[in-house]
Amino acid sequence: MQSLTTHYQQLLGLPSTWKVENVDLSMLGKQVVINLVYTGKSISCPECGETCSIYDQAPEQKWRHLDTMQFETILVARLPRVNCKEHGVKTAGAPWADKHSRFTLMFEGFVVQLLQHCANTQAVATLLGLSWHAVDQVMRRAVARGMKRRTAETIEHIGLDEKSFRVDHQYVTTLNDLDEGRVLEVVETRTTEATEHLLTSLAREQREKVKSVAIDMWKPFATAVNSLLPDADIVHDHFHVSKYLNESVDKVRRQESRNLNAVGDKTLIGSRYAWLRNPENMSEKQRSSFDELIIACELKTGIAWSLKNMFRVFWRFTCRDTASYFFNYWSKAVDRSELHPMIKVKDMLERHLDNILNYVKHRTTNAVSEGLNSKIQLIKSSARGFHSLESYRTRILFYCGKLNMAI
Ligand SMILES: [Zn+2]
Repeated sequence: MQSLTTHYQQLLGLPSTWKVENVDLSMLGKQVVINLVYTGKSISCPECGETCSIYDQAPEQKWRHLDTMQFETILVARLPRVNCKEHGVKTAGAPWADKHSRFTLMFEGFVVQLLQHCANTQAVATLLGLSWHAVDQVMRRAVARGMKRRTAETIEHIGLDEKSFRVDHQYVTTLNDLDEGRVLEVVETRTTEATEHLLTSLAREQREKVKSVAIDMWKPFATAVNSLLPDADIVHDHFHVSKYLNESVDKVRRQESRNLNAVGDKTLIGSRYAWLRNPENMSEKQRSSFDELIIACELKTGIAWSLKNMFRVFWRFTCRDTASYFFNYWSKAVDRSELHPMIKVKDMLERHLDNILNYVKHRTTNAVSEGLNSKIQLIKSSARGFHSLESYRTRILFYCGKLNMAI
């Protein structure tokens, strides 16, 4: 029969220079403690990889490993220190763990898998008996691993998006790959400088091959794109334009609801989301109550909603001239409505018409931006606000970066 140490030696699959010296089973503490010793005669310097003599051994360290049955399993070892001619005395790395981690790589891999199935850090922490901070650190290392493995492949269509961060109107900007549907990088704020910094996360040869950048009508984004991607077209796409149109319909609704409410008419109260839905996405019940709203009374909100819906046709054109002709037709209808919020947004679209018409050429899909947006929204709501930008960035890249984070 195998001895317990040989048994664990085989289970751990460590290099032959590491031996299991002792296995201690604590029934009371529900723990298996495995002591490891380094038996090699020399070791590589962690800085340069040069084979060096062993100087001494660093103080004892512990790493949490995958559980043995229901028993928490801990590896204990003193890592050898090398005496490198060039780098002096350095502690060698453990083959089973990342530098600075209190967990083995296999345990971290398990945490990553759990997090991929359950997007709630606290739930994973509770399940494994870890602190929120410890799980956060595992996620950071996983993201760092994935980011390091990224290659500088060609990405023809990219997008920039702002996301609110914390409640006090702070923002982060994300750089998205619209071809693959993933977030490439995240920076704090949405200034020109921050956006330029974000764009330089792409290698020079990648920047040269970008054909279009889908952005909001936010000046710093355009300035940064013009300075770093002078050959790419700026596109104000469906995703960004819809946001403004929805907001202006809501402004009309709020104003009208206030006026109606003042004379005791509560028709519009609580109807905000009804006006945001597209007709084809309404259930039968939603559709019939919406029809009552729109037909029974001649609401200004109804007119604003119709104008917003009419604009959806714009995204179907495949010829720039026809799209431009349609825009003129639509803007005249907006003028006739005399609804100030709609006219204001129409004026803004008119000022950026060239870039809106660029959509016809590139036709970047709305689904990618919407998909990433709703995923980030979920991350935000499951975390109930982030204390640090770094945690927010980590989660966006962990869940939306399509990274290879395997051990
Ligand atoms: Zn060295």
